[in-house]
Amino acid sequence: MRFVSSRGAGAGTGFSAAILDGLAADGGLYVPEHWPQRHVQDFAGADHLPVVGACLLAPFAAGDVLAPQLRDIVTEAFSFPAPRVGLTDDDRLSVLELFHGPTAAFKDFGARFLAACFARLQPPQAAPLTILVATSGDTGGAVAAAFHRRPGIRVVVLFPQGRVSPTQERQLTCWGENVISLAVRGTFDDCQRLVKEAFLDEGLRQGMRLSSANSINLGRLLPQSVYYAATSLAVFHKYGEPASFVVPSGNLGNVVACLWARRMGLPIERVVLAHNLNRAVPDYLASGEWQPRPSIATLASAMDVGNPSNMERLRSLYPQLAELRHAVSADWVTDDQIRARIVEGYERFGQIWCPHTATAAEVYARLPAQERAARRWVLVSTAHPAKFAEIVEPLIGRAVPVPESLAALFARPTKCEEIDAQLAALRGVLEKRS
Ligand SMILES: *Cc1c(COP(=O)(O)O)cnc(C)c1O
Repeated sequence: MRFVSSRGAGAGTGFSAAILDGLAADGGLYVPEHWPQRHVQDFAGADHLPVVGACLLAPFAAGDVLAPQLRDIVTEAFSFPAPRVGLTDDDRLSVLELFHGPTAAFKDFGARFLAACFARLQPPQAAPLTILVATSGDTGGAVAAAFHRRPGIRVVVLFPQGRVSPTQERQLTCWGENVISLAVRGTFDDCQRLVKEAFLDEGLRQGMRLSSANSINLGRLLPQSVYYAATSLAVFHKYGEPASFVVPSGNLGNVVACLWARRMGLPIERVVLAHNLNRAVPDYLASGEWQPRPSIATLASAMDVGNPSNMERLRSLYPQLAELRHAVSADWVTDDQIRARIVEGYERFGQIWCPHTATAAEVYARLPAQERAARRWVLVSTAHPAKFAEIVEPLIGRAVPVPESLAALFARPTKCEEIDAQLAALRGVLEKRS
């Protein structure tokens, strides 16, 4: 399989080269050149994530140096479960818990897959690899955890100063050793822009081996299709019906992974994007005009993205607006609505939801009653509520139990450096420490 740029230039590249490059040479994002068509029968007997993953991803790795190791890679990456928890007796509404990994957010799946690939692609004597990652909250922690202490690789995490939750900040800054944490005086969009600029900077690229670990990296995005495949297959086997998903969305990596799974033929019906006040995508679907904008700080901070990178992948999947409108729907919610939904989720279902998950629950609740009743809906839960305890606890009036993995991170000392949102500042750090 070859991967081509979402902007259409170039002849394309193989699986591991696309992962190592991060961004295509023309500044676009890698997308598969074609979509292997899969059938439910192809996955017969596959009821665990690693098994579904090895099967689903095999055509993408075919012909690549990583192909023989794919099974080991998925086994290493998907070492924790993604349970679907029913909310109603008839199981027509459920929550997919993607937060059972080391940093308690769905980004552990992609980050661990990527790290497992990089580790196998790094020749023992090669110059060290620098991985740049811009984060609006959870990415940096997941990537740092996945790469921490991997020989020959250093990770530079950029996050918007003062715009991530205190808990997230601790997760971004508690690593040390081969992980450098940078608090950028700016927004997430600034962090993302800095990473892109660093990639396009000839001088930097010549001086060091650079790669990215953002959701723009194919190696983060593709593995996320696996939990959609596994969940939709499980629903299909149990009820003979496809699954529909409501996906809390920011940079659109998670929802694109869902749409990729559907494109490959997995039994997925409706896909609904749930956004916070950063409403560029819902507005686009409504008006037909694409207007990226500065990001707005909200309670669901990991989705505070005004100009989502993966819009390019969404467009390359559905080039015509009419197709896109047919393929997905999108809605957005305010902070007050997120708060009210957290309370409602606790009172009605005994569930404790993080603000991102509550965004999905709120968007679901607004779907027409007929639409809700007609399908098997799965709300995607992207983070454990303990990561947002300062928001959630006052609303539900009780402490949120902290998973063991998070407690261990919270106990570590923290360290970080502040920089201006300019390439010169980032370059200074990279060159000083290389
Ligand atoms: C990253 C993140 C999101 C948004 O996912 P995208 O792939 O950027 O759309 C939602 N919720 C949480 C908790 C996240 O960390």
